[in-house]
Amino acid sequence: MRRMATAPKALPAIDLARCTGCGWCVAACPPHVLSLAVENWKKSAHLHDAPGCTGCAKCALKCPFDAIAMRRIPDPAGSR
Ligand code: SF4
Ligand code: SF4
Repeated sequence: MRRMATAPKALPAIDLARCTGCGWCVAACPPHVLSLAVENWKKSAHLHDAPGCTGCAKCALKCPFDAIAMRRIPDPAGSR
């Protein structure tokens, strides 16, 4: 029951059209919830563990190609 207590307030949305697969965001992510994956012969970043993401936005700040936008997610507990 209290498992949503550490849920992030925002998650990274990766623009696959802009992502070059450089891996900077993967290296910058403290809890290691980003990884590189090959899809349609193109390497790109993916959030493989959304519940593990803290929403710190370090990945978005680090991306040299502006391919990551932090997107707010609804608070499941309905704060206020
Ligand atoms: S830092 Fe940006 S361009 Fe590089 S893999 Fe991550 S999202 Fe893609
Ligand atoms: S917001 Fe922080 S924890 Fe979440 S994927 Fe980006 S760097 Fe990792």
